[in-house]
Amino acid sequence: MQSFAMSLNLTYTTLSLRRDNMSRRPSEWLAARMAEGLGVVPVNRSKNLVVAGNAHRAMIFEGGAAHEILEAGYQSVLLGTDEHKPVFAVAVDDALAEQIITLTSGATEFVDLRNVGSFLPATEAHLLAHARGMIHWHSQHGHCGVCGAPTESRHSGHERICTNAACATSHFPRTDPAIIVLVHRTDIPGGACLLGRNPRWQFGMYSTLAGFVEPGETLEQAVSREVFEEAGIETTKVDYLASQPWPFPSSLMLGFHALATSYDITIDPEELSDCRWFTRDEVRGMKEWLDAKDDDIRLPRRDSISRWLIQQWFDAV
Ligand SMILES: [Zn+2]
Repeated sequence: MQSFAMSLNLTYTTLSLRRDNMSRRPSEWLAARMAEGLGVVPVNRSKNLVVAGNAHRAMIFEGGAAHEILEAGYQSVLLGTDEHKPVFAVAVDDALAEQIITLTSGATEFVDLRNVGSFLPATEAHLLAHARGMIHWHSQHGHCGVCGAPTESRHSGHERICTNAACATSHFPRTDPAIIVLVHRTDIPGGACLLGRNPRWQFGMYSTLAGFVEPGETLEQAVSREVFEEAGIETTKVDYLASQPWPFPSSLMLGFHALATSYDITIDPEELSDCRWFTRDEVRGMKEWLDAKDDDIRLPRRDSISRWLIQQWFDAV
């Protein structure tokens, strides 16, 4: 069967840096490498810096500019090392963000990564997602969750420690596991997949079902519970396919396929405004969300694992 899209890679998953032991590198080790060079990825209000226009490249500073931005930023995180140098994410305030754009003669802009992620080179999309996720974690953990005192960054941004000596709790970067699942049925010729839409989404977009894993449940149990809660469908054969960091703001998406054993949909109106079975022909007729007009039914965005899960099902004939 013909594919409805070009081959689709999973965005935000292609590692470009060595990340091992970043939190345990001694300051002498880091200082020696920084003297030879460093890279800086600025983040302003959760937005990443890219080359302006349609070039679709990340802006990564090196040399003197990198040192200046690292010095002037209000938070930094050592993301890892490439072959030659350490690379940092640096949180910059609005004034510094303006100076950075001026520094590049207006050739760059801070944008929401989701608008460019699927167009960037894979390693750059991953790098910007990593930077955004780590800076977001720092922005949300300025105070200790145990005693309420301020925290401060340690170990090149890989830990925050409570400044109340009687507490001194360590806080580590967190990511929230969320399951996302393409449910399909095989009782009708050619099969069909279950897609729903959230009332808050852009008009016409349908996606796979998703939800956060709760304490005390396995991933498979989370899949079955979410699908039944949102759509009233019973499932079996819950198969894991792939994961995707999703720093919007702080999730790890765990992607599954599951087979439906019941077919009558009962939606939870607080979660979904609609949910339907789509045949392959109907999926083929869905529009890219950038190309869609008001009445069109849209595919999920190309950077999402939802889209990838649909593609995997679509191609598996
Ligand atoms: Zn504390």
